[in-house]
Amino acid sequence: MKKIFALMFINLMAICAHAQDITYTKNVIDTLASAKYWGRGYTKGGMKLAADYLTNQFKEIGLEPLAEDFRQRFEYPVNTFPGKMSVTLNGKQLVPGQDFIVGNGSPGLKESTRLKKLDSVNFVSAGLNVVFKDKLTWSVATSLDSLTTIELNTNTVKQTPKRIEIDIENKFDSAFRAANICGFVRGTKHPDSVLMITAHYDHLGGMGADTYFPGANDNAAGVATLLSLAKYYIKNPQSYTVVFVCFAGEEAGLLGSGFFVQHPPFPLANIKFLINLDLVGTGSEGMTVVNSTVYPKAFDLMNKINDSEHLISVIHPRGKAANSDHYFFSQMGVPAFFIYTQGGPKAYHDIYDVPQNLPLTAYQNLFKLIVDFFGKLSE
Ligand SMILES: [Zn+2]
Repeated sequence: MKKIFALMFINLMAICAHAQDITYTKNVIDTLASAKYWGRGYTKGGMKLAADYLTNQFKEIGLEPLAEDFRQRFEYPVNTFPGKMSVTLNGKQLVPGQDFIVGNGSPGLKESTRLKKLDSVNFVSAGLNVVFKDKLTWSVATSLDSLTTIELNTNTVKQTPKRIEIDIENKFDSAFRAANICGFVRGTKHPDSVLMITAHYDHLGGMGADTYFPGANDNAAGVATLLSLAKYYIKNPQSYTVVFVCFAGEEAGLLGSGFFVQHPPFPLANIKFLINLDLVGTGSEGMTVVNSTVYPKAFDLMNKINDSEHLISVIHPRGKAANSDHYFFSQMGVPAFFIYTQGGPKAYHDIYDVPQNLPLTAYQNLFKLIVDFFGKLSE
């Protein structure tokens, strides 16, 4: 009888610990995707505020700093849209983010003009290109184009463009200041052997004064998972040191991770394995592991753990790809996987990537898979 109660108690504790974790994870995602952080980008101080928030989280969790005040600072040029973002087509005002986006490298423009039709999707005037797209996907530019581009959403804009009134302000920042947030849990037996978790915290920022890109899946979810893992490793230190880095500048071209590998705070050769998390907020259709064919032994190990514990429904292998922050590490010879999940909402680099739509289907099992995988690696 006692045994049963003890077991029930242990189970209850496990459930509570778990529930707490998911609550924390959701809270981190809600916070980072909120308007206060303005898409963790280049206007309204969004990325800086996110860096402050993460630094506080690292401190509260109890991580040791890998750089002064946890920050590895760097700069890069970026085109920003801090102010006016108004497009009126044939007399009808369009909604930013929903009906149109501005090309990320566009110079600002204020004019009222007739458009010339080139074909069914392309329309032009002097200094302006207008193009229809089936899906509006924004990004970040580090250089300025010669022409302003407006992408129109074919699903919401039904009229043929004839007249356009445009009032868009840009500001090109030649030295935007950003910082990677870096901390660690010291290894108990082999502190100079390193396991590393990374996730970029920057996103696209805002497009004009009233529209921002929340980036819940990309990549508030990855950052939230990283922080939850940091909490776990503070309570359960491994024989190897576990390093946590939230990169900036990923959306501008993997700039934070590129800077890190050029200015590593410890020898990169110490890294026994790195897992990069980016777009991990779904999972009903499993997950993909980039670099699995480059590191087949590690991929085998991950699959064995996954099969024996029935965690992720399917793990898709994928070869090398320069599509997230693992890339420069693996180019430098650091064994690295990049994990992203599949299934559920398809929002990507648009205004619909919001926390309410994020199911976090694989969150708990991905967490467990990483913990057990790293556990085996540091045995
Ligand atoms: Zn991303």
